Amino acid sequence: MPDAPGTDTLKSTDALPRVVRACGAYLWDAAGKQYIDGSGGPAVYCLGHAHPEVNRAICDQLEAIAHGYRYNFTTDALEELTAIIRARVGGTLSEMVYVTGGSEAVESCLKIALQYQTAIGQKSRRVFISRERSWHGNTLGALGLSGFAERTAAYEGAFIPSVKIPPANAYRPLPGATAETAGAAAAAELEAAILRVGPEKVAAFVFEPVVGAAGGCVPAPPGYAKAVREICTRHGVLVIADEVMCGAGRCGTWRALEHDGVEPDIMAVAKGLAGGYQPLGAAICTTAVWEAIRAADGAFGTGHTFTGHTAACAAGVAVQRIVEREGLVDRVAANGPRLMGWLAEALAGVEAIGDIRGRGHFIALELVADRATKAPFDRDRRLFMKIRAQAMANGLICYPVGGNVDGHSGDIVIFAPPYNATDDELAEIVDKGATSVRQVLAAEGLA
Ligand code: PMP
Repeated sequence: MPDAPGTDTLKSTDALPRVVRACGAYLWDAAGKQYIDGSGGPAVYCLGHAHPEVNRAICDQLEAIAHGYRYNFTTDALEELTAIIRARVGGTLSEMVYVTGGSEAVESCLKIALQYQTAIGQKSRRVFISRERSWHGNTLGALGLSGFAERTAAYEGAFIPSVKIPPANAYRPLPGATAETAGAAAAAELEAAILRVGPEKVAAFVFEPVVGAAGGCVPAPPGYAKAVREICTRHGVLVIADEVMCGAGRCGTWRALEHDGVEPDIMAVAKGLAGGYQPLGAAICTTAVWEAIRAADGAFGTGHTFTGHTAACAAGVAVQRIVEREGLVDRVAANGPRLMGWLAEALAGVEAIGDIRGRGHFIALELVADRATKAPFDRDRRLFMKIRAQAMANGLICYPVGGNVDGHSGDIVIFAPPYNATDDELAEIVDKGATSVRQVLAAEGLA
């Protein structure tokens, strides 16, 4: 990556274009080439780029004070954002710890879970259960829970204790299960794991309600989240929902798990909270979890220098006000089926399309070598990276997911447009996405 020496964490040999300007759903590089943002970067830019109202709010905050440190001050932005999140998450989710991104949010959820179990006299509960094909972050705690061998292998042996169970995926049900029974079969794996470890040792179960970067917009099969909730409650295990990628409205409900009628004990939110205008995330817990912690310790035992960073909270307030005022979560919900329909139409007759799935503005294509067996393409083909490169050449940003992750998925392309993308912009994303897929398959002799 000659344009960015010393920054290569992508194993990419391509020189990346140098982005210099953006507006709404479009970005421009230094050569003047235009790109449409079909994935909001990594499902972050929920209002697109350079929204004047958000930029103004951040500038106003910077002119007043950039950061009121949490030991010394509270701020209007912090309190307003907290009130907004409380109203959006609903139920009894009421208390939060602000952080600067998704990994820190997940990390904070883990610490809140451990602090809670200690507070209620269950200090033996130190083990976490999480799932294969999940992405919980890159800090050691969150990475150790991630089910993604390529990313975790170098650090095995140094993670906090956790146990992995299989994911829940209606397109790829567990052996012996069907699309209809996929949820129940996967939930049974959770209960079996809790019993194997010993319920008195399990602190929490961590999962993505709609799997993002490690699986490609995989919604929980019907009944799965409810079953998980019931099993965890019965065994005194906390439910942690990692909504870093799928939450904050991305899937057509503000909380992704709202769709399943389930309330977690603790949840992580980040990307869409401040829409990429500032680094911001939060770990949110129920009043019951908070009350136990407060009674024992008086305060959360976790927080950072930039917890509740004022300019970041001001960005979050501005983004969330616009999302609410413009009814964008409902718009996203209505657009989900439309987007999937348009993609299916644009890719009609393409044999390699195994699955088109997702929810709201969080939709993925899964490409397979054989539709009947769902066998993935050879991972050395790196089809997903070729599609990404072709899309960039065509002026489209999409989000590729590693082909054949741990031998269990095909090559995946995620579309996560801004919530306020117009119908014309959505149509352009679908058109360029489908064209890029067709071009790569043709070039590879797979069409
Ligand atoms: N959890 C999920 C579900 C994610 O998708 C991500 C990022 N892709 C993270 C956590 C980590 O977030 P961050 O990159 O902001 O640390």
